[in-house]
Amino acid sequence: MSHKEARDPARTPRPSVERRLPRRLERSLSRASGGSASTALEDRICYSFDATDLRGLPDVVVWPRSTEQVAEVIRLAHVEGIPVVPRGAGTGYTGGSVPIDGGIALSLEKMNRIVSIDVRRQVAVVEPGVVNNDLRSEAETLGLFYPPDPASLLVSTIGGNVAECAGGPRTVLYGTTRDYVVGLELVLADGTIVATGLLAEGEGGSGPDAHEVSGWDPGQLFVGSEGTLAVVTKIVLRLSELPEAVATYWAEFPSLSDAARGVAAITATGLPVSVLEILDRETLSSALEYFHGSRPEHVSEGALLIEVEGAREAVEGGAEKLVAVLDECGATNVRRATTHEERDDIWEVRRSISPSLARIASGKINEDIAVPRSSIPDFVERMREVASDLDLAIHAFGHAGDGNLHVNIMVDRSDRAALSRAREAVGRLFEIAIRMGGTLSGEHGIGITKAEHLRLELDDRAIEATERVKRALDRRGILNPDKILSDRANPWWETLEGGDAPEEGTPCS
Ligand SMILES: Cc1cc2nc3c(=O)[nH]c(=O)nc-3n(C[C@H](O)[C@H](O)[C@H](O)COP(=O)(O)OP(=O)(O)OC[C@H]3O[C@@H](n4cnc5c(N)ncnc54)[C@H](O)[C@@H]3O)c2cc1C
Repeated sequence: MSHKEARDPARTPRPSVERRLPRRLERSLSRASGGSASTALEDRICYSFDATDLRGLPDVVVWPRSTEQVAEVIRLAHVEGIPVVPRGAGTGYTGGSVPIDGGIALSLEKMNRIVSIDVRRQVAVVEPGVVNNDLRSEAETLGLFYPPDPASLLVSTIGGNVAECAGGPRTVLYGTTRDYVVGLELVLADGTIVATGLLAEGEGGSGPDAHEVSGWDPGQLFVGSEGTLAVVTKIVLRLSELPEAVATYWAEFPSLSDAARGVAAITATGLPVSVLEILDRETLSSALEYFHGSRPEHVSEGALLIEVEGAREAVEGGAEKLVAVLDECGATNVRRATTHEERDDIWEVRRSISPSLARIASGKINEDIAVPRSSIPDFVERMREVASDLDLAIHAFGHAGDGNLHVNIMVDRSDRAALSRAREAVGRLFEIAIRMGGTLSGEHGIGITKAEHLRLELDDRAIEATERVKRALDRRGILNPDKILSDRANPWWETLEGGDAPEEGTPCS
């Protein structure tokens, strides 16, 4: 079976363990990637999944080390019509780097150099495989700051962050990855190498803050395009100065709705709030138990983690106001971290959420719905109605400061009836969010898992425009096929039910 036939979704079996590339193509890919290609089953398995646990075996994994090698691999794929699935660290929550149609898993992890940090112009040039936290640490040694901070920052890559337009707790003050990308080097679907923004201008170009009107900026089109339009091979990022002061607060509330009202009230103060995270009772209880190693005696119904940062005067001057607002919203047990250790402890509870929830149920369906901040209390009410109506445990936490709620439906994967109710809950919650003027994805992208819901948010004309852009840039449809735009049945639910993943029981599973 040729690869072209293999990608026809109507006729295609899922990529199988047996499938092999023709030997000549294996050899060409190996040459193109400087000898870093493997068709060994153990390698293919290790690059077959992301944080969704959705599976799809690539036919080959390649690890290029330069833009030229990426371009050479893609040129070959273009000629042969083989899918290419770019991959950073595989922490994605929507199946974006899962090769569901087989083909080439293009790992960017070996392109991991911080090329330069220009302190005067406050810009960094990095390769896509640089881990977010490595850039942050390096910038900090120079007194600079890279604000986008997905909770996966110790692992996820800048390339993956750009492709998903990652956000994080600090998005409320600093914005998302998009706000920091000022130049990209890209390899298009036919292997053409293109530079945009500051990279197009070269070293003599203007700084990131210069006002530019020379044509439209094609670079922004690729931020958040999830590897479906081009492979990002170099990124120029704007950096900020480190804030002078940071104050961390923890506040507990008698109800989640009170906490949600607190979010709106705190935002209205105009203080430089950089973090505004909300946790519901169940999330908090599970995170505290994970953190302390024992069940907490008392758990409040809702909590907020708040940080205020910027000039010392603004941070200290706002402290009284913030505590007063928290009081007005009914907060109990408001405390401010006075040492680094106390701050770390508060953050450790927040970071314990994901691993702790994963222990509670064999299936954790995490949707990053976002609604306007003012609608959070309403959304929380509606979410609880859906949970009770469908007899499901649904826990919520998230970056409430920018309306981004992580809604976690907890199910037992062996309970098919519960999975089917969970699927209905996802659909209903998406509809509620869209009716409130929200979005399907605050930060995790669409990938495979949300593709079936895209039409809730985009009308026919918007979908058609998206398809036209895709066709114009990727005539043969080789770049990350069946992501974002797909008529294919959503394979995620099958996976959750313990479907026929070929690699089950193998070394990496
Ligand atoms: C515990 C946990 C917490 C998380 N918290 C957050 C959070 O707070 N905020 C947030 O936004 N996300 C979060 N995520 C989701 C995930 O970490 C982000 O989407 C991240 O940006 C993915 O980076 P990655 O390197 O793992 O990319 P991958 O998962 O490997 O890939 C993600 C997508 O990017 C594409 N891609 C990767 N590299 C390139 C490239 N060089 N060129 C073109 N396309 C590319 C892939 O094809 C895929 O579509 C979290 C995930 C986990 C597991």
